Amino acid sequence: MKRVCLKHPDRPHCAKGMCRSCYRIHRRRNNPKYRADQARIASAGMQRRRAKLRADVLDALGRQCACCGETIERFLTVDHINGEGASERRRNRREGLDYLAPYSQIVAAGFPRDLYQILCFNCNSGRYLNRGICPHRETFGVV
Ligand SMILES: [Zn+2]
Ligand SMILES: [Zn+2]
Ligand SMILES: [Zn+2]
Repeated sequence: MKRVCLKHPDRPHCAKGMCRSCYRIHRRRNNPKYRADQARIASAGMQRRRAKLRADVLDALGRQCACCGETIERFLTVDHINGEGASERRRNRREGLDYLAPYSQIVAAGFPRDLYQILCFNCNSGRYLNRGICPHRETFGVV
């Protein structure tokens, strides 16, 4: 029988019962530098800095979903209007900046409203799953 990943039966085996992507994550988790980064990120000072940056971004861009008007802060996320979120996240992760970066970059850029908007989780993932248009907008015919 062909060996496959224990977590992903559809992917070929690479090492230690894992596929290539699982093995890459496994190696990263066991990397002392990665562990040190995680410890730093979990520190209270870092959490406070992140909360402060997030609050600044929400204050500047509006504490409301640009699509449906949701105002409960826990639901709100920052959305890249041109849909570059994923590639930016990848780039940040490579550079080990992913924890503060999404917010600190927006602050550094001066909160450009033509690049970022506030969306709730619903509208954010709805937009992602629906080729860039939140299903709300389709239903109401407003594009
Ligand atoms: Zn896998
Ligand atoms: Zn919304
Ligand atoms: Zn929506």
